[in-house]
Amino acid sequence: MRDIVIVGAGMAGLGAAEALRAAGFDGTITLIGEEPHRPYSRPPLSKEVLTGKGSPLGVVLRDEPEFDALHLDLRTGVRAERLRPGGRAVDLSDGTSVTADGVIIATGAAARRPDTDLAGVHVLRTLDDARAVRAALETEERIVVAGAGFIGAEVAASARSLGLDVVLVEAAPTPLTRVVDPRVGRVLTDLHRDNGVEVRLGTAVTGFEGDGRVERVRLSDGTAVETGLVVAGLGVTMNTGWLAGSGVELDERLGGVRCDAYCATTVPGVYAVGDLASWPHPRYGGRIRLEHWTNAGEQAELAARNLLAGENGRRPYTPVPYFWSDQYGMKIQLLGRAAPAETVEFVHGSPEDRKFVAFFGDGGMLVGVLGLRSTPKVMRYRGLLEKPTTWDEALAAAGITAGA
Ligand SMILES: Cc1cc2nc3c(=O)[nH]c(=O)nc-3n(C[C@H](O)[C@H](O)[C@H](O)COP(=O)(O)OP(=O)(O)OC[C@H]3O[C@@H](n4cnc5c(N)ncnc54)[C@H](O)[C@@H]3O)c2cc1C
Repeated sequence: MRDIVIVGAGMAGLGAAEALRAAGFDGTITLIGEEPHRPYSRPPLSKEVLTGKGSPLGVVLRDEPEFDALHLDLRTGVRAERLRPGGRAVDLSDGTSVTADGVIIATGAAARRPDTDLAGVHVLRTLDDARAVRAALETEERIVVAGAGFIGAEVAASARSLGLDVVLVEAAPTPLTRVVDPRVGRVLTDLHRDNGVEVRLGTAVTGFEGDGRVERVRLSDGTAVETGLVVAGLGVTMNTGWLAGSGVELDERLGGVRCDAYCATTVPGVYAVGDLASWPHPRYGGRIRLEHWTNAGEQAELAARNLLAGENGRRPYTPVPYFWSDQYGMKIQLLGRAAPAETVEFVHGSPEDRKFVAFFGDGGMLVGVLGLRSTPKVMRYRGLLEKPTTWDEALAAAGITAGA
């Protein structure tokens, strides 16, 4: 293998390039990124970049000497338009093509945009999006955040810390319905309310009004909120359009690219990693796909090594999923999964203290651990999720007698 093309210059793309070099690959690595920037870190975009509290370097993933030492053929501001059938060449938006002995797909996801072209209505996925939202936060007094997923929740917290009036609108009855059980979702709602956010649950945004710029947001309960700034956190769509006709199979249920246990796609020599890759995880009863920062790096590392290893030295990808979020100066951390769950138990602290560790169980097994302001305790339980652990064993590890 002499030429490897990585498409998508985010965390997963960069992680794959680093892993290839760390494994001793000294051929050509072409890294193609649609954005004009070198790979950067997205988590600060809804936190430090909006509050202005972090350094402007906070989004830089690798400093220049470290990045240059990878000796990549980096093409920024260029889109991959097509992966040719068989996966041995990628056609680019500048009219050129790159040939490849191996391809790593790392094109991630794009923010779902609300159906309006009024100015003042933003999404938050890229550095350019974050800079635009930051500028708007400096001039506006009220913001409507549509969608109380993690990104919406972080935008609400950042805007509050800058003193704006914040209205957080969520169609579901609790925030984060896809990610955490409602019993914990309710606690996270209270966090926003404690901090002065107006939270409207079970309410959808039905339209935007204004003359060129947004002036008002219409809601499904018949009311309207006057505002010049909206950030929509309505989830993402997968950047898979360029794979049409390539033979790379997509995952119709979870979205993204369908991989096997080794992160390989249905085209030999083509792997997929990061937000857009689904794969069968033996401890979660089927396929999963994770939109988590840590996963992007870990999956990229394993896939890169598997690509080099060929059929025989490959390892399956069986991580403990990990996600964190920072809101109102508090860290929320999740290991494993927290929804759906049959059983939820607060094993340390309590929701009232705004400091706790909760276990999530399903089918008699521990499936997730979530902590608020409890980093060392959460991390202590990681080992329980590296192997099958029954609910009773998990409670015992936390010093709780089952049924007591
Ligand atoms: C605002 C924000 C805050 C977040 N905060 C957290 C957090 O606190 N904790 C956490 O665990 N996770 C967080 N995440 C999620 C985390 O950032 C993602 O899981 C991670 O960025 C995924 O990396 P990726 O490389 O798979 O995809 P991406 O980061 O989406 O990178 C893909 C890159 O590919 C490019 N691309 C797409 N199509 C093409 C094409 N056809 N040709 C060339 N290039 C293309 C895109 O422009 C993009 O630059 C956050 C995400 C956002 C947006």
